[in-house]
Amino acid sequence: MRVLPVKVFGDNYAYLLVDESRHTAAVVDPGDAAPVREWLARGGLRLTAILATHHHEDHVGGIGELCSVFPDVPVLGSAEDKGRIPHQTVFLDDGEGVEAAGMRGLVIATPGHTRGGLAYFFPAPLGGDLFAGDTLFGGTMGNLFEGTPARMLETLRRLRDLPPRTRLWPGHEYTESGVRDALRLQPDDAVLIARLAAVESALARDGRTIPLSLDEERRVNPFLRWDDPAIRALLGTASDTATFKKLCEVL
Ligand code: ZN
Ligand code: FE
Repeated sequence: MRVLPVKVFGDNYAYLLVDESRHTAAVVDPGDAAPVREWLARGGLRLTAILATHHHEDHVGGIGELCSVFPDVPVLGSAEDKGRIPHQTVFLDDGEGVEAAGMRGLVIATPGHTRGGLAYFFPAPLGGDLFAGDTLFGGTMGNLFEGTPARMLETLRRLRDLPPRTRLWPGHEYTESGVRDALRLQPDDAVLIARLAAVESALARDGRTIPLSLDEERRVNPFLRWDDPAIRALLGTASDTATFKKLCEVL
């Protein structure tokens, strides 16, 4: 699948999922319409679907304008977010299928950051593409505005179990600060030190670190390492839930 990231408001990402043969695209999390319309126009693409990961304004703020320009476009989001996502027409539950840009995707409920959070996973032969909204970022995770650590742990466990070669497309460019925070916890960790250097050069070169690799995040992101013996030793914890809760306190 061809994914075109669109920078919104400085550090937000909207994503165009492009169907080249039909000259159409779906958009994930259009926080603002203008940059999305610009990229659609530039590619000669017609918008065919809007996918929202959650109801926060920086992810849905552009939906109204896009719906006025493309009046029949379906707006997909969680059934839990009914009344919170503008112009929503499709109310999704965990495990449902979605169609976007000629690809079949899977809806994964991701309660934690918000109670109606969703991730969209588009499988491919060797991995797939995961649009995770504000649930999982490079080196860190989203704030627990409407969820508990226990809830978020179960959400992240499901995302971590996706195929290792999955490309992770997060809702924000937070990777550098995420990795720096992880380094505060483990200042001498060689994997993290190397990751920070790679992140800095990617930012200098491209201004972005996406797509992230799910496999790499499993190794560098402390919030995916609740069962890592080194993290447990550092925090003095013994179970998944205790370790994750402690990570939420110290990071
Ligand atoms: Zn959010
Ligand atoms: Fe956000």
